[in-house]
Amino acid sequence: MRRLAAVLATAALIPLAAVGTAQATPTPAARAAAPAVVPALGPTPSTWEGGRPVPVAPRWWPQGTSKPSAAWASGWPKPVAFAPTAKGELSGRKIALDPGHDLGNSLHLSAINQTSWVGLTKTCNTSGTATNAGYPEASYAFDVVARLRRLLAAHGATVYITRDRNTTATYGPCVGARGSFAAQEGADLMVSVHGDGAPSSGRGFHVIAPAYYKGYTDDISTESRTLAWNMISGLTAGGLQRTTYLPSPLSVRKDVGTLNMSDVPTVMVETLNMRNAADARIASTAAGRQRMATGLYYGIVKYLRTAP
Ligand SMILES: [Zn+2]
Repeated sequence: MRRLAAVLATAALIPLAAVGTAQATPTPAARAAAPAVVPALGPTPSTWEGGRPVPVAPRWWPQGTSKPSAAWASGWPKPVAFAPTAKGELSGRKIALDPGHDLGNSLHLSAINQTSWVGLTKTCNTSGTATNAGYPEASYAFDVVARLRRLLAAHGATVYITRDRNTTATYGPCVGARGSFAAQEGADLMVSVHGDGAPSSGRGFHVIAPAYYKGYTDDISTESRTLAWNMISGLTAGGLQRTTYLPSPLSVRKDVGTLNMSDVPTVMVETLNMRNAADARIASTAAGRQRMATGLYYGIVKYLRTAP
């Protein structure tokens, strides 16, 4: 809560209703709980984030083993950092974002199908899903993260992103490298952004938190679960639909490499179901993606107000 008063005093506030109207508006209680939003100006990058390249360990080591795993390969996109664009409630915070997959994964199958140990044996990455009209999850996640990054930086945060581009020329990074990235950069938390590919009848978001896994997530599982519930709360405050195809908006899993390899509180957000027609309409419009980014922003701010 430290810097909220200053932000509220100076910020040009955007009413939540202006953020998007494709779904039910949030309840009055949720609306009151939502943080202020300062708009990020300028176009949203679609293929190239820019940013300052940040160093990463030349190789990452799966915890609990001495065997080095995949290098941060030359064919991968580069990780980048963004300085704050204004002072605000998030000044001094470092936030890592991970746009899921890569547009080129499906063109580099032999590389992304190589396996490594990330608490279980997993392929480097997968191609991700797409809307029925063919809008890829990789492009959707990249766009939402670009919008979220700009919101966070406009409120004072330094933002680290696991990939700086969305092109068919690159592939990866491998999930273990994504997971270990945030701690390398000293981030307070990481949010990995995805769209699900579930049966078309179901819609809505769910948040995946790492299960307790000794030697892997024992140090972050409790905080990650707190982060997950704050993300659920933030997305709900932003008027986003909770999952209709799972029993809970929280999934706790031991089989997600990005989460297993993280050393800071981390969640993966399946922001919507790309195969569902209503969700695909949100994914496929700039206004829908901005609304998703705003919901994610609300969740991060809510978490950081009470985080250690
Ligand atoms: Zn995904």
